[in-house]
Amino acid sequence: MFEKLLSLIGAKRHREEAPVADKKRKRCKCPICTEIIVKCVITNCGHTFCEYCLEQSMMYSSSCPLCRKKISLSTYIPCKSIDNFIRSQLTEKQKESYFLRLDLTAKWNEDKKLKDSKVGMKIDALNTDGIWCPAVIQLKIDNGENNYLLYVHFENGECSYDEIFPETSKKVAPAGIFTAKNITKYRMGNVGMSTTNY
Ligand SMILES: [Zn+2]
Ligand SMILES: [Zn+2]
Repeated sequence: MFEKLLSLIGAKRHREEAPVADKKRKRCKCPICTEIIVKCVITNCGHTFCEYCLEQSMMYSSSCPLCRKKISLSTYIPCKSIDNFIRSQLTEKQKESYFLRLDLTAKWNEDKKLKDSKVGMKIDALNTDGIWCPAVIQLKIDNGENNYLLYVHFENGECSYDEIFPETSKKVAPAGIFTAKNITKYRMGNVGMSTTNY
């Protein structure tokens, strides 16, 4: 009798826990790819996405994909505690695709890192309007302890000016990584042009 009672309570608890776990997992989904968030980033408006998804979205719009608040590369931060929580909740079935997507994100981060930068090298750089432009390194300044500053000239006619970036900045990348993509829509959204006069 007692055992039966325990098993009944156990069964009830099990039934109650399942939806809660499902709910928690749902909350951990990225609104862009609708998959479980990989390398979670949190924006200044408090929304969470996969780092890769948000960066891809920001190539086309500098607004939060959920609430449309203005965001930039410097206004979102990684959220490791959410990553750890998500990993602790993964089912065996989810693990394979999660870690595959984690590898792809690592590859993307590696591909867009500027390596062996030198004077005269063409690169992609993010201008102050949040638009990726072709640019060229004009000076490489040794800032000590293997930290370099790059004096960069934007080559593109519509954004012709110079700016200094740390070599490790997220705002510089190998040539073509961003500018080879079709970002017409993104440009229009950011420079305030309407479709008629573009
Ligand atoms: Zn995503
Ligand atoms: Zn938002």
